[in-house]
Amino acid sequence: MQLFEKLVDHDKAVRLVLENTPRLPVARVPLTEARGLALAEDLRANFDSPPFDNSAVDGYAVRSADAAEAGRIFQVVDEAPAGRPATKSVGEGEAIKIFTGGVIPDGADAVVMVENTSGWGEEFELKKAAEPGQNLRERGADVREGELILRAGAEVGAPEIALAATQGYGKLSVFRRPKVVVLSTGTELIEPGSRELSPGEIFDSNSFALLAQAEEAGADARRVGALSDDEGVLRAAMEEALSTADVVVTSGGVSVGEKDLVKGTLLDLGVEQIFWGIKLKPGKPVFFGAREDVRLFGLPGNPVSAMVCFELFVRPALMWMTGREDKHRPRIEVYFDDDVENRFGRMHAMRVTLERTQKGWRAESVGAQGSGLVSSLTKADALALIGPESRGVRAGQPVEAIVLREEKLS
Ligand code: AMP
Ligand code: MG
Repeated sequence: MQLFEKLVDHDKAVRLVLENTPRLPVARVPLTEARGLALAEDLRANFDSPPFDNSAVDGYAVRSADAAEAGRIFQVVDEAPAGRPATKSVGEGEAIKIFTGGVIPDGADAVVMVENTSGWGEEFELKKAAEPGQNLRERGADVREGELILRAGAEVGAPEIALAATQGYGKLSVFRRPKVVVLSTGTELIEPGSRELSPGEIFDSNSFALLAQAEEAGADARRVGALSDDEGVLRAAMEEALSTADVVVTSGGVSVGEKDLVKGTLLDLGVEQIFWGIKLKPGKPVFFGAREDVRLFGLPGNPVSAMVCFELFVRPALMWMTGREDKHRPRIEVYFDDDVENRFGRMHAMRVTLERTQKGWRAESVGAQGSGLVSSLTKADALALIGPESRGVRAGQPVEAIVLREEKLS
């Protein structure tokens, strides 16, 4: 039987993961494929935007000096729909019919809304005095030529795509989306929905949970159904995963039992161990390794351990690979109303609920903290990191927590 050689601290494990994970190559992708990726370079405005003074409303472009008082009659000499500038300019007592987005014609310095006129033809009467510049959207009001509009590392979402498009960028340089393969291992595991359970069997939940987490972190993730604890089966599936993915995530079979074949199989397949075993609860037996550019996370089978360890180690790695600035979840300081013990000699990533109080963020355990209690994670807002050094924390003492439900903070 194999034993853990040396457990690494949580912080050191995160550092080792990030230090040993390469950034993915940069690719130029069409706007339609950029969502969720991080920009690999700063983006500057190519020109003033909007590129020309234009009308904010449907109405008439006039000289404001002519429109200082209501009651005047204007002659309509031309029209300027969006996309078709007028050919004439606006002279004294004249107006050009204009539509939202239409180019402000020469001579005009204000637009009167159609609602403030009467008659919509050759001439109209002004019903309300106009101010210079009214209803006019100025060239460059949005961004100025040369201005930094998006920073490298920013996640591309709908607003970023919109801004890039206004500046004529059809493609963006982004870090490629990571390909993730998720495998679960355990002879007891059955595909949910496939049939009823026989004695001793359970449904595979980890591969679904880890797939969802990988997708949530922006990865292009694929799930391989549960594999039995058989060397041949594991070997074939892992080789296939290692030769197609950027990141392979396994669950189960990575501890020190006789049926724990994951680590041995990976080493046989040429994966180099970076660490195995973390001073953490839940999630002691995590394995992290590398084969060429592929990174491999062997997560424990207990569902809470698998999901928590994904949060703590895999998610930051995926974020880092894709160049995301925000690779960590928000961290906040919390306190407990009562003393909290830690008898494990390992850091306890405790599932807690959060409540904002006058003293700050109050954390409370979700209840039992067993690593098989899947329902506990549905109740958790955050993971409070209760250090290994102390025997725990005292009531009111500040504790760092990783916020899982970011909407709680708003
Ligand atoms: P292991 O890490 O393989 O020793 O598994 C630890 C515990 O987690 C055992 O009770 C397993 O049955 C359970 N387990 C392992 N893999 C999964 C999975 N994919 N879904 C749900 N439970 C699992
Ligand atoms: Mg197992």
